[in-house]
Amino acid sequence: MRRVVIAGNWKMHKTQAESLEFLQSFLPKLENTPEDREVILCAPYTDLGMMSKNLHGTRVRLSSQNVHWEESGAFTGEISPAMLTEVGVTYAVVGHSERRQYFGETDETVNLRARAAQKAGLTPILCVGESKEQRDAGKTETVISEQLKADLAGVDLSRLVIAYEPIWAIGTGDTCEAKEANRVIGLIRSQLSSGDIPIQYGGSVKSSNIDEIMAQPEIDGALVGGASLDPEGFARIVNYQS
Ligand code: PGA
Repeated sequence: MRRVVIAGNWKMHKTQAESLEFLQSFLPKLENTPEDREVILCAPYTDLGMMSKNLHGTRVRLSSQNVHWEESGAFTGEISPAMLTEVGVTYAVVGHSERRQYFGETDETVNLRARAAQKAGLTPILCVGESKEQRDAGKTETVISEQLKADLAGVDLSRLVIAYEPIWAIGTGDTCEAKEANRVIGLIRSQLSSGDIPIQYGGSVKSSNIDEIMAQPEIDGALVGGASLDPEGFARIVNYQS
C-alpha cells in the first residue's frame, strides 16, 4: 500500500501572523481525517520556525518550497538543508515549475537539491511536468521521462515523493482531467525502479475535484497551490471522500 500524501504549497503567501491564523482554523478540522493520510504544509521560509512550534504534537508535517545543495557558503538568498532540519522541517519541494521558469533552475540544480535534501534527512517532493507547447507537440512522455532521469540520478527512491504538475494546469483553473493525470502518473511509475513512491497530482486541485482525482488508482495525493491558502477549503481537500 502506497502512502497518501496531501500537501499545500503556499508559494509566496502568508506572513507569520497569517500562517498562525490559518493553523488555528485548520488544525481542529483534521479531527476526523483518516490516520493514513499524510498532511504537509509547504510554507515560506520565514514562517517555518514559528509553524514548527505550533505544529508540535500534531499530524501536520512541514515542508520548505526549495533548498540549496551546499551546507553553507557565499550563496546570498539561499537556505541550506541543515537550516531547515534544525527548525523541524521534514520535506523540501524541489524543481517546482515556477522555480524552473522564473529562477533558472535546471534538471542539474534540481538533482543537486534533491540529493542534498536527502543527505540532511529531508524528503524531497520532486515536481515534474510538461508545458502546454510540449503537450501540444506530443512530447509529454519524453519531457517527463527526461526530467525523471536527470532529476533522480543518485536519489534514494525510498525517501521521495513525486508530484506530477502539468504546467498548463497550474494556477489556471484548467485541471488536467483525472483520467489523463492517472495515465501520466502510471507512466511515471513504470519508469521508476521502486513501486512504492507516492506520486501526487498538482494543478488547479480544489475541493470540487479532489474526490475524482483521488479515486484514480495511480494517484496517491495532491500538491495544492491556490486552494490550500484557505483553511476551510484545504481541510475539505484533505478530508476528501474516498
Ligand atoms: P495550483 O498550484 O493548485 O494553484 O494550480 C499547484 C502548484 O503549483 O503546486
